[in-house]
Amino acid sequence: MTANRNNDKLTTSWGAPVGDNQNSMTAGSRGPTLLQDVHLLEKLAHFNRERVPERVVHAKGAGAHGYFEVTRDLSQYTKAAFLSDVGKRTPMFIRFSTVAGELGSADTVRDPRGFAVKFYTEEGNYDLVGNNTPVFFIRDAIKFPDFIHTQKRHPQTHLKNPTAVWDFWSHSPESLHQVTILMSDRGIPATLRHMHGFGSHTFKWVNAEGRAVWVKYHFKTEQGVQNLDVKLAAQLAGEHPDYHTEDLFNAIDNGDFPAWTLYVQIMPEEDANSYRFDPFDVTKVWSQKDYPLIEVGRMVLDRNPENYFAEVEQATFSPGSFVPGIEASPDKMLQGRLFAYGDAHRYRVGANHNHLPINRPIAEVNNNQRDGAMNATNNGGGSVYYEPNSFGGATESPQHKAAAFEVSGQADSMSYDHDDHYTQPGDLYRLLSEEERARLVQNIVEAMTPVKSDEIKLRQIGHFRKADPEFGQRIAEGLGL
Ligand code: NDP
Repeated sequence: MTANRNNDKLTTSWGAPVGDNQNSMTAGSRGPTLLQDVHLLEKLAHFNRERVPERVVHAKGAGAHGYFEVTRDLSQYTKAAFLSDVGKRTPMFIRFSTVAGELGSADTVRDPRGFAVKFYTEEGNYDLVGNNTPVFFIRDAIKFPDFIHTQKRHPQTHLKNPTAVWDFWSHSPESLHQVTILMSDRGIPATLRHMHGFGSHTFKWVNAEGRAVWVKYHFKTEQGVQNLDVKLAAQLAGEHPDYHTEDLFNAIDNGDFPAWTLYVQIMPEEDANSYRFDPFDVTKVWSQKDYPLIEVGRMVLDRNPENYFAEVEQATFSPGSFVPGIEASPDKMLQGRLFAYGDAHRYRVGANHNHLPINRPIAEVNNNQRDGAMNATNNGGGSVYYEPNSFGGATESPQHKAAAFEVSGQADSMSYDHDDHYTQPGDLYRLLSEEERARLVQNIVEAMTPVKSDEIKLRQIGHFRKADPEFGQRIAEGLGL
């Protein structure tokens, strides 16, 4: 509970004045301490409970408020009201994060950055929970817990474990594209302001006539892409571990508001059946030569959180928080995330996490949910609490039913048909300058050197070689293999 800012009287958590906040109540001046000092008991007990479980991934984050402004009318593709009118502004909140480190870990490490945006739209909250990379390491959610185990600490030594990291990647060649991006200069952004953001997955947009297209989101930084030199990043990680967090706060505090232009790639629905790879595979990008970027709007961050815990730590994002006009695609990684994020927040913050001010929609919520721990509303009062009913309760909106779609094939545990994990990482390698390639190779060599198995190194070199023979050759030489 916050202190009453209109009153300088210190109170207990039940609102009564505190008589002495410096000395606990003792029997005589040496003690022992009396159990009846209920202010002391509450103070210590609440302190013990100050932390909610940190996120199992993306624990270290920084956030900011801002707005999204539409610059181009795309209502031919989506009926989402917040994207409808040029000039329309929607308040939003963003949380940037690293992935693998703990809540107090250093900012300037080589890691993808989370790029989670919550749009507070009139039709409910829309969460776009992306990264600063257009692809991901894996493409099926069933591999996620194993993958993250390799990014976290060894169960015995409690040390980071490069052998596990490269073992998993070498056995999962679909990771090669993301690994190549991660090991490139863009793996350590200069600041959170100097990197792009991506929705990464393919989503579905549906227009007012019910026509669907597939869509990918790209937030391009208006500050320009800038990255950190590896040595400087290591130095900052030691001397200034909260460097990115501080930079973002200070920039906004100084009125230097960072901005991103939002673009989308639009794929006609039927193209998904004939594109040269599966467009729902999150380890692949859609070539911008096939589906050029179309500008949608601008995101500007202009307000710092007033309170880190209330706004950044308790912010809960879910890729399943859709609004009318935006829906899921069959992307298997997205399908898993539709469940996992809401579940993480129910565990971390509680079943009523959407009651918290940072998560509460500006749209009225009428969902017949009642009760649960930490229910922070009037719990629906005495209004109707089930549906259908005879008492004028809230009713469904058939015009906002999700668009129907065809499915076919046998139910089975199966992989994507397409197994070319090499062309796109190779394309990326080939678009880099010679200086960028040399740094990429050097970063990989340094990252793989501690791996305690030549078999793993050789397996991984084989993947780099398939992406581009020169790429693999240079890494093999760097590793002396
Ligand atoms: P394009 O030439 O049309 O697009 C190249 C993309 O690569 C641009 O988005 C560009 O972003 C980005 N890029 C440029 N330099 C780097 C770098 N050093 N590190 C990471 N990204 C960079 O080609 P394609 O669309 O056919 O894609 C070719 C390769 O580019 C892909 O295999 C993929 O690895 C990479 N890429 C593609 C993206 C896409 O959506 N198609 C998005 C990001 C990367 P910018 O203008 O900001 O430099």
